Order: sequence, then structure tokens, then C-alpha cells
Amino acid sequence: MPAQPDQPRLAPADMPRASNGASSGGIDLGGTKIEARLFDAQMQTLDTRRLPTPAEDFTAFVKALAAQVRWLEETSGLGAALPVGIGLPGLIDPESGLGFAANIPITGQNLPAALAEALGRPVPLLNDCQAFALSEALGGAGTGARRVIGLIMGTGIGAGLAQDGRAGYRANGSALEVGHIGLPSHALQELRDRLGVDLALRDCGCGRRGCFETCLSGPGLSWLARQYLGAELEPADLAQRAGDGERAAEVVLQIWAHLAGELLLTLQLAHDPDCIVLGGGLSQIPGVELRLAAALERVRLGSMRAPKIAIAQHGDSSGARGAALHALAQARDI
Ligand SMILES: [Zn+2]
Repeated sequence: MPAQPDQPRLAPADMPRASNGASSGGIDLGGTKIEARLFDAQMQTLDTRRLPTPAEDFTAFVKALAAQVRWLEETSGLGAALPVGIGLPGLIDPESGLGFAANIPITGQNLPAALAEALGRPVPLLNDCQAFALSEALGGAGTGARRVIGLIMGTGIGAGLAQDGRAGYRANGSALEVGHIGLPSHALQELRDRLGVDLALRDCGCGRRGCFETCLSGPGLSWLARQYLGAELEPADLAQRAGDGERAAEVVLQIWAHLAGELLLTLQLAHDPDCIVLGGGLSQIPGVELRLAAALERVRLGSMRAPKIAIAQHGDSSGARGAALHALAQARDI
């Protein structure tokens, strides 16, 4: 039997524990809401509170975020001893502290410094794709794996990486920005050869053309449906029609899976994970993990074992849960 990897405990015994069981707090910061969750030592949610996200004003934004941290501190009974982490849809440069995000007002602002000033202590921040990967690595679909990639396929394509139960250092504070890797030319050639499909390259929101995201995201899959079915179907409707035996809908899903298999191969070649956990709206397509495992198997290098491909277990709580686990890990390091 090979040695089992050491699995970090979710909330170690040497961490503070309140009489109500509270052990950590996590905040999922989104474009419309700031959701705070209080967790016990088994990472079960004890309490949760949502506030609307101030969309424009950085000062109001910091105030709302600090109010959520204080609510967690007070509700736990542990005050500032409670480990609290924040997951956010953007980047924080670890050297300068300056942020960059599309949906929250942190671009060019120093959020870590502003928050530390408001609270009197630093609060660990991490990208929400990293939070997702960490959440699934610890007590989720990636439990038992040492190197877990969380791949989110929704309105965009993003990924995070957790190693040995830690989110790890990122030079730019980013996640794995794999949605903006270009579609490989050999994959497009194979589409022509196998399915007779000549795929046009689309402009991407990042300013380039032909990124994976343009075809693999929810809007990308709807675009593929329009090209080959003549109707811009929602992914769930497309999956339904394929499940009902409609050949053209099945071909659209095959094109999507073919390209997704190439992305999985890129992830394996670059990062060699034990496990890839799928999240986001497209992970709800019935059987998608089997479809994508088969797509990777077709292109995988024979010398490498296939990673486990699994569906996320923690759904909407992943951002807050991963942020709380990150804060616990940071607290242990101090
Ligand atoms: Zn792009």
C-alpha cells in the first residue's frame, strides 16, 4: 500500500473554539452580495448573513466588508481571535496590495491596507477560484488528493489550485487564468477531420481571439448551439435535447467536450493534479464528468495517469468555505 498523504484537519484542535462551536468565518465577495458564513470545526455553517455590495464607492465597499467581518467576530463570541478569510472575484497583487477586478470597486485600490485599518488586524484575501479549489480539496470532491484543481465552467472559465490543503502563493494573486489560453490549432483540425466542423475563432472579453472561454463557458456553449442548431439554447436545454436523442444537440455537446478535453490535457500537462473538480453551471449537465473524462482519455499522454474528474460537492458555499479554510491555514502559520 502506498503511504497516504497527510490530510490537514479542517479546523485543528489547537485553534480557538467558541462555546457555540464557532471555529472560523468566511466571506464570499461577489458583484451583488457580500455573504458571510460562520463555520464550526467540521466546517458546517452555523450562521450566515448577506449584505448588498456597494458597486461604485470604495469607501462604502470597505465599510460593508468590515461590517461583515465584525458580525462574524461578534456572532462567534471569539472577537478578533476568530480566523476570517475573504474570497473575491479578482486579483490582489501580493507585493503592492493593489487590486484588479471587473465587478467590485477595488481596481487600483489597496484593499488589504484599507481593511486592516478599519479592523485593526489583517484579514487574508484570496481569489474565489482558489477558494473553490481549497474548499473541494478539504472535505469536498477532492478529499484524499494532494493536488486539486477546481475548474469553474459558468459565465466564464476559471480555475484554482490547492496543494496539500493550502491555496499557496501566487505571484500576481491570481488563480489559474486558463479560460484565456488559446484553442490549440491541432484540436480545431481534429474537429474538421472527426466531425466535419469548421470552427470560427471568436473575440474574447480579454481582448484577444480564440480563447478557450469563447467556446467552453455557458455563453460559449450557447454560441456553439447557434452555429450548429440555428438556435441559441441554454446549456440545460441543449443537454435535455441531447438526452432525448436529438443528434444535432449531441454533436454540439461533442464539440464542446472535445475542446474541454484539450483544456483538461493542458491543465494536466502544466500542473499534474491528482483530481480536477468541476464547478459552475455547466457542471450540472448530467454525466458531464464522464463525458469530460472520456474526452481527456482520448488525448491523454500514455505515460501519465488520468486525474480523477469529479463534480463539486459544496456548491454556493465554496467561496466562503474556502476563504475560511485559507484563514485557518494562515492562522496556523503565525
Ligand atoms: Zn480571453
